[in-house]
Amino acid sequence: MKYEIEFLPVGNGEKSGDAIIVRYEDNGEFKIMVVDGGTKESGEKIVKHINEHYGVNYVDYVVNTHPDQDHASGLSIVMDKMEIGELWIHRPWTHTSEIIHHFHDQRMTEESLSRRLKEKFSSAYALEEIAREKYIPIYEPYQGNQIGQFYVLSPNEEWYLHELIPQFNKTPQQKSILSEALESIASRGRTILESLDIETLNADGETSADNESSVILFNMEGIMLTGDAGVKALENAHDYYPKLSQDLKFIQIPHHGSRRNVAPDILTKILGNKGQSQNKTAFISASKEAKKHPRQSVVNAFIRRGCKVISTEGNTIRHKNGMPSRDGWITAKPLEFKSEFEEEG
Ligand SMILES: [Zn+2]
Repeated sequence: MKYEIEFLPVGNGEKSGDAIIVRYEDNGEFKIMVVDGGTKESGEKIVKHINEHYGVNYVDYVVNTHPDQDHASGLSIVMDKMEIGELWIHRPWTHTSEIIHHFHDQRMTEESLSRRLKEKFSSAYALEEIAREKYIPIYEPYQGNQIGQFYVLSPNEEWYLHELIPQFNKTPQQKSILSEALESIASRGRTILESLDIETLNADGETSADNESSVILFNMEGIMLTGDAGVKALENAHDYYPKLSQDLKFIQIPHHGSRRNVAPDILTKILGNKGQSQNKTAFISASKEAKKHPRQSVVNAFIRRGCKVISTEGNTIRHKNGMPSRDGWITAKPLEFKSEFEEEG
């Protein structure tokens, strides 16, 4: 199958986001899927990119992996300016009658809960409003659903509704924030030593519930997109499709290469054992200036398990199969394995 996956640059400073375009051949015609749109500015870039490089003004599938602003905002530009086939997005505000019992102690009513979720995730809710105005069909991406040639591996509906939504208002574990602060003080100026065998990545990384709710997509060409998924969502995806490590050829490193979203065990389950030759590609969407995106320990972990790792850092990066090269585009330089580095904060 002919395909290309493009990661457009998003954000500046410590803020990163995702703006991803996938185009693939399906029965002799091309399908276009946009997965997250970054900021409004990157939304404009997506429109321009599709117009210029694909010569069309449509998107078959718009997918919002999770409702955070750095992933949802830009999609409103794409949906405003282009012809859209389907919108795939979680709509937690429509499930309040099923989940209100989780909120009784907070004296929430169905209406107040719905309002609160719409306010908290206003950039995602805006997408639903545009879709309704333009009569674009809306679907919720849950495990087992198919979006074009891609399958949703996570989240499953039960977990999303009854565990993740009730945690949306909570910040990640108080304890882990404190231990993170202590870790950060302890690690200040400390040099970390790793090798192809020695890994320092923590086994107990945790991320927020809204990050964990990220849609994980996979297709039979071995392409896996992860949004800001954390260890639980990745485990969930692997449980649903245990053959990941055999079939995977391309993976998005989740949450811009943050070290709280991956752990050694799950990476081995998805990518295979350490010490393989580099026969897979891993892309990261990270702002050029962000110190925490990507983490060197995360980059090392993916290289260790056979990935060539490439990060956006202000550029558009493209992975292709059977598609022509573009004039003036150069081969991206993969990130290096470092056996000595400082990882602060
Ligand atoms: Zn993000």
